[in-house]
Amino acid sequence: MTEPVLGKDLLGLEGLDADRIRLILDNAESFKEVSERSIKKVPTLRGKTIVNLFYEPSTRTRISFEFAEKRLSADTVNIASAGSSVEKGETLVDTARNLEAMRIDMVVVRHPSSGAPKFLADRIPSNVVNAGDGRHEHPTQGLLDLLTIRDALGEVAGRRVCIVGDIVHSRVARSNMWGLLTLGAEVAFCGPRTLMPSGVEALGVQVFHRIEEAIEWADVLNVLRLQFERMEAGFIPSLGEYYRVFGVTAERLERAPRDLVILHPGPMNRGVEIDSRVADGPHSVILQQVTNGIAVRMAVLYLLTGGGSAAGGSTQRTGSRRETA
Ligand code: ASP
Repeated sequence: MTEPVLGKDLLGLEGLDADRIRLILDNAESFKEVSERSIKKVPTLRGKTIVNLFYEPSTRTRISFEFAEKRLSADTVNIASAGSSVEKGETLVDTARNLEAMRIDMVVVRHPSSGAPKFLADRIPSNVVNAGDGRHEHPTQGLLDLLTIRDALGEVAGRRVCIVGDIVHSRVARSNMWGLLTLGAEVAFCGPRTLMPSGVEALGVQVFHRIEEAIEWADVLNVLRLQFERMEAGFIPSLGEYYRVFGVTAERLERAPRDLVILHPGPMNRGVEIDSRVADGPHSVILQQVTNGIAVRMAVLYLLTGGGSAAGGSTQRTGSRRETA
């Protein structure tokens, strides 16, 4: 059997080369159509069992994975740490080994500790997909952001993308940064010094501490939520002050030299990092991100379970899937 083109696991976008990222985005492009059908299902993963193991609350990511799995005809089980044996003190690996004893094929894991998906992937033979680990990475979010930017602007290479807000606590910022740099975008971070990791310039990322400068520079703003649950101290004076200085407001965008594409990974805090008029405005692609999330996750699940092996071309992949659809 040929090696799956993405390998066994998807743990992050760091180190994933441009060809593989494009392969995922191209496959996602052809999976979009499945969600537009009246019967939203293809038999691609029929007979596969996927466990969604969530150690943190999540609405859209868990539901998005679940929709992707169901639309590919996989059998899925959701496990949330609350109310499960995890509360009784079971370790991550014991939980996973018990699941494997029930003969599963894949684990989609969200965990508050950075590195937990890698720890798991090194210890179980099932495929592991990182659905967000601590402050480390959220690769499928990064991929859906890339797809949404590509949809809006035609290509990612050469575009100026600024990620705004709480960078230091954000796994979304990290996955975006790796994916965008690999595809040849120019990347900037904008936020208060207390929420900015140090040394990012060395990775080729520009840093702005004034939102006005970021708006003047960028083609795309990806606006992040303030991650209060990951903060250990007072990083900002108050929410009102943050909005006054860094809020992405309609007035600020009106002064931009070009129309900006506005992304937000959700959940949004309206009136904290983003003005409702921007979130619901004509340049917002926030709901397209949500729609694209399902297609991207379908593509990742398909490729990890052996679809699109290195020997096949992408047309062939799309063609063979459509035949069985
Ligand atoms: N949903 C994203 C995450 O899990 C972003 C956020 O929570 O603000 O990281």
